[in-house]
Parts: sequence; C-alpha cells; structure tokens
Amino acid sequence: MCGIAGVFNVPQSQNFVAELLFSIQHRGQESCGIAVRNVQGNIFGYKGMGLVKNVITESVLSRFDGPVAIGHVRYPTAGKSDEMNSQPHVIELPEGPHLAICSNGDIINYYELRTWLETEYHFTFKSDNDGELIGRLIAFYLLHKKKPIEQAIAEAQKQLKGAFSAVLIYRDMMFGFRDPHGYRPYVIGSLNPPDEKGEYISDGIVLASESCAFGIVGAKLVREMQPGEIIRLEKGKPLTTVSVNAGKKQHCIFELIYFSRPDTVVFGEKVYDVRKKIGMQLAEYDKSMKLDENCVVMAVPDSSNFVALGYAKGSGVDFDMGLLRNHYVGRTFTKPDQKQRDEGVRHKFNPLPEFFEGKRVFLIDDSIVRGTTLRKIVRMLRNAGAKEVHIRIGSPRVIGSCYYGIDTPSKEELIAAQKSDAEICKYLNADTLKYTEVADFAKILHRSKDFCYACFNLKYQYKPEDFHSKTNRPE
Ligand code: AMP
Repeated sequence: MCGIAGVFNVPQSQNFVAELLFSIQHRGQESCGIAVRNVQGNIFGYKGMGLVKNVITESVLSRFDGPVAIGHVRYPTAGKSDEMNSQPHVIELPEGPHLAICSNGDIINYYELRTWLETEYHFTFKSDNDGELIGRLIAFYLLHKKKPIEQAIAEAQKQLKGAFSAVLIYRDMMFGFRDPHGYRPYVIGSLNPPDEKGEYISDGIVLASESCAFGIVGAKLVREMQPGEIIRLEKGKPLTTVSVNAGKKQHCIFELIYFSRPDTVVFGEKVYDVRKKIGMQLAEYDKSMKLDENCVVMAVPDSSNFVALGYAKGSGVDFDMGLLRNHYVGRTFTKPDQKQRDEGVRHKFNPLPEFFEGKRVFLIDDSIVRGTTLRKIVRMLRNAGAKEVHIRIGSPRVIGSCYYGIDTPSKEELIAAQKSDAEICKYLNADTLKYTEVADFAKILHRSKDFCYACFNLKYQYKPEDFHSKTNRPE
C-alpha cells in the first residue's frame, strides 16, 4: 500500500503536494518523495526514508519552485524498503525533458516485463520498484515505438497486469491513470470551481489516493478516476479523459474495512459509513445473545472505532473506551519477527485502571491476520479483570495473500488459513469469536459485486503463477 498525489499548475505546487502527502501518511510511512517541474521545464526530485514531516521539510521545500508536482508515500509490499525503491522516479529520456512518475499498487507481471525490457532493449533499472517499471515501459513506447505520450501510456496500461493508480509529469502536461479494474483508490479534486458549463479546467486540479487529502489544501472532490481511465491536464485546457480501458471492477474491500481513512469517500462509498454498517451487521449475528448492564462495546483503537460504534448502535450496548493507544509507536504489523511484534503491541495499548472488573467485553477489531494483536490484548483485558471477552471482526477470515498492493504475510502465517474458528478463539483465549461474512457485504455496500475479496475467498483475478514469474523482486 502506498499513496500518491499530484498538483497541476498552481504556484509553489511543492507545498501543496507536501500537504496532500501529509494527509495520506497512513498509506505509507517507510519513505516518501516529491518531483517538481519548474517553469523552465526541468524536473527535480527529492526522496528519503521516513515520514513526510521529517523528509519533506520546510528547508527541502524552499529549494523547489514550480507549478507542477507529484509525490508519494511508501509502504513496501514488494522490493526492499530503501531510498532507491522510494518514489517518485525521474526517468531520463535522451530527447531532453524527462518524465516523472509515481504509482500505488503492485504489478504481477513485473518480473517478466522488466526482464523483457532489460534483455531485448537494454533498459537499465535503478530500483526494484513497480513505479519505475511503469515509467520505463511508457518510455519504451515513446522511444522505441515512437508513440505519442497518450498512446504510450495506453499501451503500457494494456500490458501491465495488477494494481496501479499512477500520476506522471511529461513535458508541460500531467497524466493520471489507473488499472482497468480500479483496485486502489484514486480521486480527482480541484482548487477552483467548475466553469459555467460545469467543466473543470486543468489548472488547479489535484490528484490523490484518497479524498481525505483535499480538505487541507482547500480542494473539492470532483470525482473518482474511472477504472482504466487516462486523464490529461494541460495549461488552460479542460481536464480531459484521453481514454477508458475498463475491465471488471475489482475495488479492494480491505481499503474500506481497514486501510483508507474514515473521512475518505471512495469506490462510491463513505468509508466511515461502511464501517458503521459492518458493525451493525456484526451486531445482527448476536441478536440471540443475552446482554446485560455488565456488557460493554470496545474498539481496538483507532482502526475499528467506527465498526465498534456501529456494533453498539445495532446491539444497544454502550460503546466505551477501555483501551488507550500510544500514538508514538510505529507499525507493529511490519516488524520482522514475532518477538518484536509482540513487544510492539504491549507498547501500543494500555487498559484503563479499574475499568474491566467483572465486565463482559465485546471487543471489536478490523481484522485478524497473524493473531498477534488480539492475543496480547485479550490477555491484557483478562489481567485487568474482564469476565468475558467476545471478539467481533470487521473483516471476513483472511486466508490468502494479496497480490494487488496490500501487505499480507504468506499463507503459512495467516492464522485463519491454518486454524478453525474454534481453534483461533482458543488461541486468543476469547469466549466467542465472530467474523463478518463475505456474503453480507451485499447488504453493506451499494455495489458489492464491484469489489475484490480474494484475500477472503481466494478468487483472484490474476495470480503470480499466471505469468510464470516470481512475486519477489530480484535481489
Ligand atoms: P495481527 O495482529 O497479525 O492479527 O494483525 C491484525 C492487526 O493489524 C489489526 O488490528 C489491523 O488493524 C492491522 N492490520 C491488518 N492488516 C494490516 C496490513 N496489511 N498492514 C498493517 N496493519 C494491518
């Protein structure tokens, strides 16, 4: 998972793009970067390891001055976590004005395409990152096939398999494009109102992975980028759809369950609203349970807050906050070994004193992946005096890896792929355990058929084996 942003024809665009990235920081905390095109037509990039506020500082921003900028926050799913694999990538073209690109997603046929470009056309890659592959593939169509930029992007879009939401600077234009299935979110906003015909002019257009980024820069959501769409932004010209190469929609359901921010509107849904409905659905499963004044609904903060609110509304049990989260602890999920993950959870959460004595806790979390978080938390609650702990999960059972840009461990590590519900409940030391069922998303979402549930039902649109290639990048 990662986040992308773009700003077109706005003075000091670098400051706007930094603000957009700051608002989508939750999509990637490992590294970040920007690329800015100045009025002379030169593109300069800057990237580094760490958070936006630490990497893209005031002093870094003061070195840039240009009307067109793109930026990226990275959460690695493939390729090492280092500066070379950070984005954006500035791709040098012999003809002069280079192109800059960044992308969010995962390319399944990465290895094949890279090998083909390297062996047949002697391309040199500087990183193992798919953003660079997309950029070099477009460069291939520009240089070797002499295609105009729009067609070069369209050809690359056809050849790439997997998930990509991308933004590119080429000459004085900016392009946004998305894979035909629309796996990862991608939205268009504008700093300016539409003209009298309701059309948006390119100047002042901002692009971002999530609409939650728009408020901070004073932009309004125009619309979602369509799956398979290529848009062009050109000074003084309308925001233009170049082409739409749409396939079957496969929006990532996990974005709504966990990854996107609750104030984002994406895939035709309000994220907070979907989470509340998931909670109400979970409460529906418990209609026959005997509830009393000792019951309390609690979230594992913060990702499941809205699911817990929905559960409380649906069940009539009070929502309360018995667990405090330390916001200065980074991601525990990505820690390389189990000991570090366990310690991370202990540092992250703490129960309120004298809160749990004799309580029947309905503990809501968005997902169980390895089971690390909940096992630790249940122990914490029991030690704090909880009488019963009933776990309710916003997602279905995670039984398969994601190949489209979510960081899921291998099947061997996925607890639901290895154990039954009863075994997991015992492992977590909970009284009961229930998940949201895949079929019930038909009641929760407006268009549930437009979503990818592959990590829950193994119905993959593409698998790495389909391309006889490795998922892992070359070392
Ligand atoms: P686990 O502790 O391994 O069961 O992981 C589940 C917890 O990690 C949940 O509380 C989620 O909030 C969080 N989580 C789930 N999926 C991811 C992911 N792909 N990246 C980071 N955190 C995640």
